[in-house]
Amino acid sequence: MQEYNGIPTRPENDLRDFFQQITEEGIRTDYYGVAYDIRGMRNLNDQLGRNAGTDLMRAHAQGLQNLIGVSGMVARKSGDAYVALFTRSHKDEVIDYLKNTEVSAMGGSVLRNISCHAGYYGITELCTNYEDLNEILNEALRLSRTQASTEMFAFCDDTVMQKLNERREIAGMFADALANEEFLVFYQPKVETKRYRMKGAEALCRWKHNGEMILPFRFIPVYEQNGDICKLDFYMLEHVCRDLARWQKEGKEIVRVSVNLSREHMGDPRLVEHIVEIIDRNHVPHEYIEIELTETSSEVDYMELKNIVNSLHDAGICTSVDDFGVAYSSMNLLIEYPWDVVKIDRSFVPLGTDDEEDKKRLIMLQAIVSIARQLDIECIAEGVETVEQLLILKKNGCNNIQGYFFDRPMPSDQFEERLDALKEL
Ligand code: C2E
Ligand code: CA
Ligand code: CA
Repeated sequence: MQEYNGIPTRPENDLRDFFQQITEEGIRTDYYGVAYDIRGMRNLNDQLGRNAGTDLMRAHAQGLQNLIGVSGMVARKSGDAYVALFTRSHKDEVIDYLKNTEVSAMGGSVLRNISCHAGYYGITELCTNYEDLNEILNEALRLSRTQASTEMFAFCDDTVMQKLNERREIAGMFADALANEEFLVFYQPKVETKRYRMKGAEALCRWKHNGEMILPFRFIPVYEQNGDICKLDFYMLEHVCRDLARWQKEGKEIVRVSVNLSREHMGDPRLVEHIVEIIDRNHVPHEYIEIELTETSSEVDYMELKNIVNSLHDAGICTSVDDFGVAYSSMNLLIEYPWDVVKIDRSFVPLGTDDEEDKKRLIMLQAIVSIARQLDIECIAEGVETVEQLLILKKNGCNNIQGYFFDRPMPSDQFEERLDALKEL
């Protein structure tokens, strides 16, 4: 049992200096780092009052410091978030301690079992500075929260370090890539299945760098994290508008193109103004642009998303709810917002097998299609790869399809040929 003996927990800066010190002494790789936070701290504060809560937290940190001794250090980052460095010989004891320890506060009048989420990393030569350590530990801590609640800890190794370096590199390349127009718009047709005619397309980003084509999963998450995604989305919209204007000028029959808008745009009060400015500057009629947005979890975002969808609707620009059904779907979203299109996520598209899961998929699909129809919202299924899927969708009234079965996303010159073919039909 641990009791607080009045020694203040060190601030994070002391740990930063400590890391520097063990690096200079050449003993850094003898150490483990751990980032942890106390489970249910908010509840404890509510139950016991702040003073007792703080006392418990300090006693817990003090106990860990006693355990790892003078060769290690515990520091408080903020709130109930802590970070520590300790020698490898203490590993098992630290894991046990952070899993569950009885701690006492207020002179023994309060006793609680404290358990933590904890992310560990055995420091290697690759991790040379405190910022890297911090990022790896945060990643490990994040992992510890995603695992089953019986396993409240996780370890990261150097693959995380390598990923971090790759992410940094990708982040550092953005400005040049944007200026050099290395990002390309690929178009994936959307097909209407009554007459098998292309009725629209989605613009998807590709990055051509040194002859290599880089797919979005490698760079979009990085730019979502650092906010650069907003510039990339506007760039995409700009290029789509330029293409549409040029095609129209050339006498081609054009179709509505949807552009993805990241959730990171929330908080930009001039978002819709900016979108309209780009479309108008390129003289594209508003009905040829659709904006794809994803659902949202927080209440603030919910209101803001509502404003965005409403304003776009007022400006005559279509909106679609992307990946419908996954993550934070809310049925209210369909009632309160004037969406034009629901994009049914591929996880709801039946494969045409007769297992239980596929039957459930079909039930969900039928429900979504029926709701959309009655609310007068268009629906389109994504990720359709096989003829079986196509037939099931048609049979159940979903007549718009996007997927590899018809086309993969293609470069603009190839898409132009599709537009030309439309005229011949
Ligand atoms: P998304 O918006 O859900 O786009 C659909 C993704 O599904 C695309 O992947 C597309 O190539 C892929 N797909 C289409 N048909 C099929 C199919 O039949 N089978 C399978 N397995 N996949 C299919 P992509 O192009 O790799 O893009 C991935 C994600 O990256 C997009 O998912 C979107 O969230 C994001 N993204 C792409 N371009 C942009 C962009 O310009 N801005 C933003 N904010 N996000 C983008
Ligand atoms: Ca999309
Ligand atoms: Ca999607």
